[in-house]
Amino acid sequence: MYTDYKHEPFTDFTKEENQKEFLEALAVVKKDIGKEYPLVIDGKEVTTKDKLVSYNPCNHDEVIGSVSKASTKDIDAAFEAAKKAFPAWSQTNPVARAELLFRAAAIMRRRKHELSATVVKEAGKPWVEADIEVAEGIDFLEYYGRQMIELKDGKKIESRDGESNQYLYTSAGVAVTIPPWNFSAAIMMGTTVAPLVAGNTVLLKPAEPTPIIAAKFVDIMREAGVPDGVLNFVPGEPHEIGDYLVDHKDTALITFTGSKATGLRIMERAAKVQEGQRHLKRVLAEMGGKDTVVVDKDADVETAVNAIVTAAFNFSGQKCSAGSRAVIHEDLYDTVAQRVVEETEKLTLGDSEKYENYLGPVINQKAYDKVTSYIEIGKKEATLLTGDESDDSTGFFIKPTIFGDAAPDARIMQEEIFGPVLALCKASSYEEAIDIANNTEYGLTGAVISNNVDHLEYAKQNFHVGNLYFNRNCTGAIVGYHPFGGFKLSGTDSKAGGPDYLLQYLLPKSISQML
Ligand code: NAD
Repeated sequence: MYTDYKHEPFTDFTKEENQKEFLEALAVVKKDIGKEYPLVIDGKEVTTKDKLVSYNPCNHDEVIGSVSKASTKDIDAAFEAAKKAFPAWSQTNPVARAELLFRAAAIMRRRKHELSATVVKEAGKPWVEADIEVAEGIDFLEYYGRQMIELKDGKKIESRDGESNQYLYTSAGVAVTIPPWNFSAAIMMGTTVAPLVAGNTVLLKPAEPTPIIAAKFVDIMREAGVPDGVLNFVPGEPHEIGDYLVDHKDTALITFTGSKATGLRIMERAAKVQEGQRHLKRVLAEMGGKDTVVVDKDADVETAVNAIVTAAFNFSGQKCSAGSRAVIHEDLYDTVAQRVVEETEKLTLGDSEKYENYLGPVINQKAYDKVTSYIEIGKKEATLLTGDESDDSTGFFIKPTIFGDAAPDARIMQEEIFGPVLALCKASSYEEAIDIANNTEYGLTGAVISNNVDHLEYAKQNFHVGNLYFNRNCTGAIVGYHPFGGFKLSGTDSKAGGPDYLLQYLLPKSISQML
């Protein structure tokens, strides 16, 4: 029997023995460097000539591994396999489907450091954050498994005399999973196993910079016993197979996490009913953010500084939840700005393989060019307070950069940069600070640092974000504790890791029987 859900503990890397174990895991991952991984279609491994190559962002000459690249023909074969597997899988006892996830979680726990070390190498994520991410992946398996067991008998509805009514959940069909690279383990795992445990069959197309961690996860699911055709692994280039997956007549569900531009494209294309399609596609699209830490005039300065620095620079700002802007009451602005700069200048930047580095690189050349171009924009729009040093000779390293006195409508205050760049903005009142916090097209996360109870209540009503945090930073949501998803153009607010999440992968069926 399974226990009550509790989130997976994080590794304490201040302990020498844990550091030693992690170094050993990194060595294991290094031994596999250069390995090739196949597609998996209908339970069979398929090797193609064309490969998707994964590089280390800390050292762009180092190949982490490569995976076979799916063509549209392979995608067709995967849809056929998923359709064939659907009737049996959707009618498999939901408890057995949940147990598959629990088994996979147990395997992941045994291989936890190896998986985290893969994230370190492939995504350039620092140790602590890679460890938290793999814990989050395990949490998704444990949480959604339990959620499916809760939903297996449907929900109670009323029956009149002489009638017996039932409200049951059935599965929808073939689900396509399209995750981002920035949570290449956790989001990829969560958005694969949620439709799957709900009885749907899945085509997983990982993000192109990070296919290796996905290949390892698919291996784990196979070891745990996922039946043939239920989980198909089809990595590839989005310009070759992205639209094809979305447009396919057999796609019933799409779980996308990524940029606003791609999300909007998917929503639009999925709305069109294709020839031979006899259902409407459901899309869960979780997209970008431009998240704000608001600092009230009576705030505790050190709480504010810690919240701003960690929200802005964890994983080099490459999080949809990153606090890429801070709006500070004018009474505290100078003090907080000075302390934020002081603390930021202490952060260490370098190869993520070294535990002592707080920040690693950005993911690739495209991201490096984008972030550095925003630093140039920032220099024209606001006052550079620190940073503006970058080096892509070995890896894609950008020093944490802060701009002060940014105007509320400056581009660096409005657009998602997705890198270690923070804008500070001054507000003359708390209400004005909340207005500024609401002034973008996004509505994902936000934090308020304040000791004023009325102001916190005001934020509950008026700070329009899907995830609101008080007196802490605005990143680091934990499955089952901080269900995650945003308003406005941040997405469909599907609330990953929340109590309603699985319902989105199920079709409620109402049955009425005369007695
Ligand atoms: P992206 O949009 O470039 O790619 C995301 C995924 O979509 C990848 O798997 C990619 O291969 C695929 N893709 C690209 N074009 C496609 C197409 N035409 N059809 C189908 N699939 C396509 O985003 P990214 O750079 O990988 O991720 C960063 C973005 O993700 C940021 O904007 C970040 O805010 C967002 N994000 C949001 C959340 C959230 O929960 N809201 C979480 C993590 C990341």
